[in-house]
Amino acid sequence: MLVDMDYFYAACEELRHPEFKGKPLIVGNASANDKTRGVVQTCNYEARAFGIHSGMPLSDAFKLKPDVNYLESDEGYYERESLQIMAMLRSYSFRMEVMSIDEAALDLDGMDYGEALELAKKVKKSITERFGLKCTIGISSTKTYAKMACDAAKPDGLLVIEDSQVLEFISGKNIGKLPGIGKKTGSILNGMGVHTIGEIAKLDPTLLMTKLGSFGIEIYLTAKGKDPSKVIEQGAALSISRERTISFRPASAEALDKMLHTLADEVWDELNKQGYWFRGVSLKVRYNDFTEHIKNRSFSNNEGSKELIYESAKKMLEGVEKGKRIRKIGVRVFGLVQRKGQKTLA
Ligand SMILES: [Mg+2]
Repeated sequence: MLVDMDYFYAACEELRHPEFKGKPLIVGNASANDKTRGVVQTCNYEARAFGIHSGMPLSDAFKLKPDVNYLESDEGYYERESLQIMAMLRSYSFRMEVMSIDEAALDLDGMDYGEALELAKKVKKSITERFGLKCTIGISSTKTYAKMACDAAKPDGLLVIEDSQVLEFISGKNIGKLPGIGKKTGSILNGMGVHTIGEIAKLDPTLLMTKLGSFGIEIYLTAKGKDPSKVIEQGAALSISRERTISFRPASAEALDKMLHTLADEVWDELNKQGYWFRGVSLKVRYNDFTEHIKNRSFSNNEGSKELIYESAKKMLEGVEKGKRIRKIGVRVFGLVQRKGQKTLA
């Protein structure tokens, strides 16, 4: 079962800004008074009706709908919402994979399609009642097919593709609908005269292996109805982060250091509140030209100390490009592991 929240960032914003509900809304990565730079991160369906979509430069989006409502993204807020949603979803399956901030795959091994459908209805209802949000759910024999079912049912949908329906469901679809096939792989396949998923299944797998490596074999199997994907339990995609915008003049080294202390404190407080250890720290720096510098450091053990968050971030900050003006700085902990003896927030 693949659960994907509908237009998640924008939906979270509609929760605390009900005045935007029913009106076109964009959440993007530029500040509200400098919103022509940067890109659309998420937009609601009212904005999509004007041709706006995620990944689009904000300047293009404002051309399509000059008076569209705009909010700068607040990732810390979306992550707090996500953690609670994920904690609730976790209670429905003993094996769950967090695929992204707004998407999870639940292993329903042992259930038949009828039972899975009932569970999915329950999950959709709980998400609406407890969080005021909508999601789409896809159910199928494997993770990839469930994801494709989910994609086909958006928004606010629920679609079951049983084993016997899989080949018919996927074969006629464009290769771009297969998770993991982006522009680059897509154009390699197009160059081989392949446009639909069904056509991948007719290729010689050794040729696919030569062109695309092991991914070629994966998509070959998936196209044949033998998707090898599995739900892998891990906390790696869960994270907690805090960030600060530097609005006016460039920050001094001392000011940046102070900011790191504050961010580490805040992340640490949230970790305590949520009851997690972490296995990695990441530092994000956004420059004035909107380019970003992201560095990660992973640990082999579950860690829990404010000093470690600060020290790691500090070390990573030393590696940033000197002379470039920093506009935003963020600290994230990831690879979250539930502390023993603490209940989840569900
Ligand atoms: Mg989503």
